[in-house]
Formats: sequence, C-alpha cells, structure tokens
Amino acid sequence: MIKIIKNVEVFSPQPLGRKDILIAIDKIVAVEDSITLNGSHVQLIDGSGKIAVPGFIDSHVHIIGGGGEGGFKTRTPELVFSDLVKGGVTTVIGCLGTDGVTRNLNSLYAKAKALDEEGVTCYIYSGSYRVPIVTFTGSLLQDLILIDKVIGAGEIAISDHRSSQPTVEELKRIAADARVGGILSGKAGIVNLHLGDGEMMLNMVYEIVSKTEIPVTQFLPTHINRNERLLHEGLNYVKMGGFVDFTTSTDSLSKEDLQAWKALKLYIENGFEDNVTFSSDGQGSLPRFNEKKEFVGLDIGKVTCNYEQFRLAVKNGVAIEKTLKAVTYNPAKILKLQNKGTIAQGKDADILLLDHDLALVDVIAKGKVLMANHEVIVKGTFEL
Ligand code: ZN
Repeated sequence: MIKIIKNVEVFSPQPLGRKDILIAIDKIVAVEDSITLNGSHVQLIDGSGKIAVPGFIDSHVHIIGGGGEGGFKTRTPELVFSDLVKGGVTTVIGCLGTDGVTRNLNSLYAKAKALDEEGVTCYIYSGSYRVPIVTFTGSLLQDLILIDKVIGAGEIAISDHRSSQPTVEELKRIAADARVGGILSGKAGIVNLHLGDGEMMLNMVYEIVSKTEIPVTQFLPTHINRNERLLHEGLNYVKMGGFVDFTTSTDSLSKEDLQAWKALKLYIENGFEDNVTFSSDGQGSLPRFNEKKEFVGLDIGKVTCNYEQFRLAVKNGVAIEKTLKAVTYNPAKILKLQNKGTIAQGKDADILLLDHDLALVDVIAKGKVLMANHEVIVKGTFEL
C-alpha cells in the first residue's frame, strides 16, 4: 500500500533532479530529496540509475478494434492489456472508428471498464466517424453529463473520402454540445477530429472558431502528420492556440519526414511544444489506398508506438522534458485529466521507470506495479 521509489532522477516532465517519491495506495504523496519511513508495510523500489517519468496518456485507441476497410476479414482485433503496459500507457481514451455499425458504444464502454479493472485508467469518446454521431442516450450533451466514462466526441472524420461529409453547421452543433456537456460535467468535452487527406484540411474548424464563441481548444484534430501539407497547416492552427495530435503508428507514413518525432521536432523548433500531443491510433486499421482511392493493403496500429516515437525523439536530440510533454502533460491538459500527466504531490501514482538507454523497466499505474524490472524492447512500425 505504501511505496517509496528511492534515489531516482525525476522528469515531472520538468527535470527535478534526484528525488524520492512516496506513493500511498494510488496517489503520489510526496516528491522530496529524501523520504524515510520505517515498517514492514513500506515497499522500497531502488530507483538509482533510473529515470522516473509520468505514465503515458494515449488519447486515441481503438480499444475494441476498428476498421474493416478491406472487407470483414480486415476487421482488427481488440486491444490486449499487456500491450498498454509494454508501451508505458497508463491512461487510454477509447474510440470507435470508421465502423460505427458492427462496433458500438456499449462494447466500448465494457472494454473501458475492463481496462480500468486490469489496472490502467480508461475513458471513451461518444460517436464514430459519422455525423449525426452515435450516442448512448440520444444526445452528446446527455452522454457527457450522465456517463462518467465519456469525456468527448470522436473520432469524427472530416476532409476524408470515408467521412460522412458533415456540414459546418453539423460540426458546429457537435462542438456546441460538447462544450456545454463538458462545462456541466467538469470534463473536457473535447471533439477528436480525424483528418483525412482531403483538400479542405482544417477549414471547417477555422470557420467554426471564427464565427462562433467556441474556442479552438474544443477540438483535438489528429493524424496531422499524415502529409506535408497538413503538417504545415497545423502550424497555423497552433498559432491560434489550438492543439494538434500526431499519430505515431501511421504506416502510410512512407515518407520518413512525417514520423511523429520529426513532426514534434519541427513544432518545438517553431515554439509550440505546449500544443502537441502524440496518440498511437492503436488497434486501428491503417488502410493503404492508391490514387484511385482503391484499397491496396492494411496494417494495424500499435499502442507501443508512442513509446517508440518518444524514444526516437530523445535519441535524436530533442530534450526529454519537451518530448515527454507530448505524451503526458499536454494530453492531460487538453483532455482535462487533472490528476494525470505529471509527477507531483496529490497526482495519481502513474509512473514509469526507464534506464539510461530509455528502455522501459517498470510500470506503475494507480499505485500498482504492472511491470517490474523486465526490460522491454519496444518495437514500433518505423525503421530509421
Ligand atoms: Zn482516424
């Protein structure tokens, strides 16, 4: 019930130096230079030679599987809990995807509860690709207010040949409901937008935020690193104060420059380290289409890819504290997960211990050790 991680180099994500971290049940009670507690009920974890970072937050995972863009046989399988642990993910947001017919919110909810029981923290989005969106109660507003696990809507597809081609008015109403539902329930009420390869890019969002009082932070557009055009358009978007999300396991990133860590580096160089998040698109189908929009193949997203891209960023010279923000502090902020994303007194005890080669050694979630001293070589989709 009580644990002390001794003598560990803490990145909260800010570098705090060598500290002891006191954990009681599921909370961080203290982060101090030296903490001494005696008694057989205290478990000591030797942190010397290791780095402690907040547990990763993955804001876009198809926890019950997704896709099927190549027909039924290409439906992807549901998430396995151990994959989250291997990727250091201690908070995950589940979503439906292209298929909101054979996948449904009741299953999504049950899987979220299961992941909670297994030891991580899980929330979900109402809706799927399509507008009008699928909901539990008949309205997004009610879902947000009445269903604890719902923290927003998504992934709603825009600027994509697979979207339901929503109008600005339709998207505006969703954002309005998300906003009010979020305000009344103390949640983010975020609208997670799937961006496709289309010409329109973020135009609908620009129109909504310029012609209403809805703030740009009501949206979290994802797959911004899917092509060069969108990646650079995203820079204009973050200048307005918005957040963008880079997908870490997009296989269609045949162009090396579109890897999430490189996109992050670009945004940091432009001064936007506070406006970027990573998500894995885990268990999502990553279909490949040719120029005629014909399906030519498919891969499956992996929840270990955020970790892999974090590691690549740091190994390629991006500061660890800046890289960490994209997988911890920033998603906690935009998703309003107040007890997540930092190592500090009173926060949830979601902590990863890494060795100095940045290999994941220990995973602690809600105060419980899910992985201890097992070196895991995390394999992502990418090769350098
Ligand atoms: Zn998507």
